[in-house]
Amino acid sequence: MTRVAERSSPGSGVPAPAPADAGALALWTEIAELEDRSRFDEDGLEQRAELALAEAREVGLPELERRARLVQADLVRRRGDVAEAGRLAEEIHRWAADHGARYPLARSHFVLAAVFQELGDLSLALEHAVRAVELLDEDVRAQTRIDHHARLADCLGLHGDLAARDRYDHVLQLAEEIGDVDRQLLVLNNRSYCEILSGRFEDALLWSAKLQDLAARHGVPLRVGRLDTVGRALLELDRLEDAEAAMLPGLHPEVLDASLDGDAGADFLLTLTEIRRRRGHHAQAQESLDECVRRCERHGLTSIRVRARREQAELHAAAGDFRAAYEEHRLYCDELMELQSAERDARARALQAMYETTEARRQSRRYRELSLRDPLTGLYNRRYVDDELPRLLAAHPGEVTVALLDLDHFKRINDTCSHEVGDRVLRTVAELLQEHGRRDSDPGGSFVARLGGEEFLLVLTGTDPGTAVRQLEAVRRAIGAHPWDELTAGLPVTVSIGSAHGGTTPADALGRADAALYAAKRQGRDRVVVAA
Ligand code: GH3
Ligand code: MG
Ligand code: MG
Repeated sequence: MTRVAERSSPGSGVPAPAPADAGALALWTEIAELEDRSRFDEDGLEQRAELALAEAREVGLPELERRARLVQADLVRRRGDVAEAGRLAEEIHRWAADHGARYPLARSHFVLAAVFQELGDLSLALEHAVRAVELLDEDVRAQTRIDHHARLADCLGLHGDLAARDRYDHVLQLAEEIGDVDRQLLVLNNRSYCEILSGRFEDALLWSAKLQDLAARHGVPLRVGRLDTVGRALLELDRLEDAEAAMLPGLHPEVLDASLDGDAGADFLLTLTEIRRRRGHHAQAQESLDECVRRCERHGLTSIRVRARREQAELHAAAGDFRAAYEEHRLYCDELMELQSAERDARARALQAMYETTEARRQSRRYRELSLRDPLTGLYNRRYVDDELPRLLAAHPGEVTVALLDLDHFKRINDTCSHEVGDRVLRTVAELLQEHGRRDSDPGGSFVARLGGEEFLLVLTGTDPGTAVRQLEAVRRAIGAHPWDELTAGLPVTVSIGSAHGGTTPADALGRADAALYAAKRQGRDRVVVAA
């Protein structure tokens, strides 16, 4: 439902959890306000969203950054680039899912529901709308709650689901409670439009009467999209004179041009044409149709242009010019077919583009993950160590133990048994390392890697040297005590370990661990030596 266009005062802000420092608080307030206003047709939101985005980036507030980008995505959708809006929203959706960021996740579902609605995939739209509601916390701002529930009602309504009515009642009540006239108008309009779609014109009229009434009481002029809803309800009930009278305020140039995207005005003129034609006012009907066509051409509104042809054919026929009516009707049919196939293509392309970005991300994450793993054992590899170790040493200064492990006389196993058996020993050692190299109290970051050959690395974070040594001893014993006999035909498998605690750089930590490992080998193997 895109017949939503209102310009008015900002909604009232209900306090919600907000950042403590003043700069962040101001930005938080601005972004909440942008989310609020993005429901309505207003100038200047793009620039404000751009500024907010830049600021969130600069001060390093990733959640606010994503929320500002979602506002942008929704505006992009309103301006007609649904595919791009979908791509942006999907991207933020993934970020929010990866980071467990609940509110941005709810907002991304909210935007995606509208995207899929416009792409004509109502089931997906409904799914997103449901999630957008489910993910809202108790203390969310009232406006947000209304918006998310209203979108769910819209999706249910487009789906032809009767549950939409209760939903609309619910959101209307919420909007009344906080005295938000803009949102009440929005809900009344969408409710009425929903009744029109399902052919319940008496109900539609009831709700558009409430719409008119509320707008009049608050001195808010109804914009063309809403006048169109009112006119359409009356037209369907054959109340032609009332329909035209209700629509007249929309002919005022200021009202007609108030909508930013132009199609609300063209839609409105087309409905007005139909009303006038059915009243027998052919000249006036032609006048509004001509204006409608001009707007279609100016704004590239293909779909309304095609519907205008059908109306033109009707108008020719009503005036008795059947030849012209026939010609126009033929044009209408041709262009309709073209339009439908173009729309199908566009929809398919948009869905495909969204699918591809998701898929590409998934693939590249998979490739990245693979590129950090050792294929034989599945442990992390040297590349991972190069990335991760500097980070860990910086994040846990003085609390990281780096241990190098080298199998003893491994060459013997290869030579006596086979290279294949050697590989199996390496895989088993890797499993034992993963099993015994972890600790329950690990604050995060400990890992095991295979550096190459029969050399492994064990990195333990958040340890004191004593605990680390006890754990390395346990690892060493576990490897030596494993029942190797059946695999190695009696050859023992043991490991020498050189350990260094509290290094500042990888070179320092690894260098000391390597020296300790060398000492362990020299002292007779199957032991742990700690670097001085
Ligand atoms: P030390 O106790 O002094 O460490 O003796 P070592 O025999 O373990 O040491 P050395 O470095 O001489 O030999 C390591 C051997 O590991 C040589 C190589 O054949 C074997 N090796 C390296 N990578 C692999 C692998 O991926 N699979 C198998 N099966 N063997 C490997
Ligand atoms: Mg070696
Ligand atoms: Mg060795």
